[in-house]
Amino acid sequence: MNEDIDGLSFEEICIHWGEDPERYMGSVVPPIFQNSLFTAPSVEARSRKAGRYIYTRESNPTTDILNAKIAALEGAEEARCFASGMAAISAAVMSQLRSGDHVVCVKNVYYPARVLLQDYLNRFGVEVSFVRGTSVEDFEQALRPNTRLFYLESPTSINLWLQPLEEVCAFARAHGITTIIDNTWATPVFQRPIQMGVDIVVHSASKYLGGHSDVIAGVVCTSRQHIEAIHREMTLIGGILDPFAAWLILRGLRTLPARLRQHQQSALRVAQWLSEHPAVHRVLYPGLPSHPQYELACRQMSGFSGLFSFTLKHNSREAAVGVVDALKTFHIGVSWGGYESLALPMLIEDYDGEQRWGLRVHIGLEQPESLIADLEQALRHAEDKGH
Ligand SMILES: *Cc1c(COP(=O)(O)O)cnc(C)c1O
Repeated sequence: MNEDIDGLSFEEICIHWGEDPERYMGSVVPPIFQNSLFTAPSVEARSRKAGRYIYTRESNPTTDILNAKIAALEGAEEARCFASGMAAISAAVMSQLRSGDHVVCVKNVYYPARVLLQDYLNRFGVEVSFVRGTSVEDFEQALRPNTRLFYLESPTSINLWLQPLEEVCAFARAHGITTIIDNTWATPVFQRPIQMGVDIVVHSASKYLGGHSDVIAGVVCTSRQHIEAIHREMTLIGGILDPFAAWLILRGLRTLPARLRQHQQSALRVAQWLSEHPAVHRVLYPGLPSHPQYELACRQMSGFSGLFSFTLKHNSREAAVGVVDALKTFHIGVSWGGYESLALPMLIEDYDGEQRWGLRVHIGLEQPESLIADLEQALRHAEDKGH
């Protein structure tokens, strides 16, 4: 799919790659093929081999442009889009497993992914072990003769721990184990796991790829070797992305590199400010040199996005809730990766294993100085109330 993309920048891929306006009457924006089926001039011509589309559950021209762009961004041979990040994760995981298999999974992964592995797939005879995942030894120790899959997420989205991807993938390959990574936090702009040996990359495109908090979508990126199994999951389970949602993600992607540069710059500024605040116990952000895996982070990522956590000196749920409720510019809500800043109180497992109350924040595209002013008044307000 992507033979001639070497040397193309992320910007060029997001803006031009996979598009051919001449096919669509010069339309600068690709049309939304909002149709379920495609007709043919003859029975003979009605074939996928003849390059025709047949049915949108199988493939659709709008969605194919998105597949091509995301595959190019990830340096993957192929990509398929799904109706949500969870549909993408489920398809990727289920494409690799059968009854009796064992999975090693990072313990602080996105919670529904954990439930899928631990409770749902358990019904079909799949076993799972959860590990810290901050060193290759964690995976080695959990290994069983029937281990088939390592499920990774680096960094994790609540406590921001990393896995050493090159080492873990080299170990997995030597043992015939497939690796899947959730790359939602970094996006391909800041981390390209396939280059480090990961077999399958999954995303919630509802976060930065879409970027505007107006669409739910997911994507799986992988090699030609694995794509057949992924495509089969997509058409049999049927969790395809709607063409209109694909079009919204295409629109979001146009500004992905520009947005991420700003998220990074603002998040670094706010994280630095928080790390010097007397009410803050610790800031968990891989872009700060104080992060215990800062060196690894700089080695395997080329930048840092806008989501991070910090813990409070006043270690209580009431204190964390008090700060969040006092925020004005930050909104209170789950999800992240959009234009807006968000906060939630959370119990966070720190790198040393301590559970501590704090906030998870997403630094959006507002002025970082307004966000700092908001955090300052909220931390002061909560302190005045005795937390
Ligand atoms: C949101 C999220 C998902 C799930 O994506 P949906 O599009 O909501 O299904 C998966 N992984 C991470 C890290 C997420 O933040």
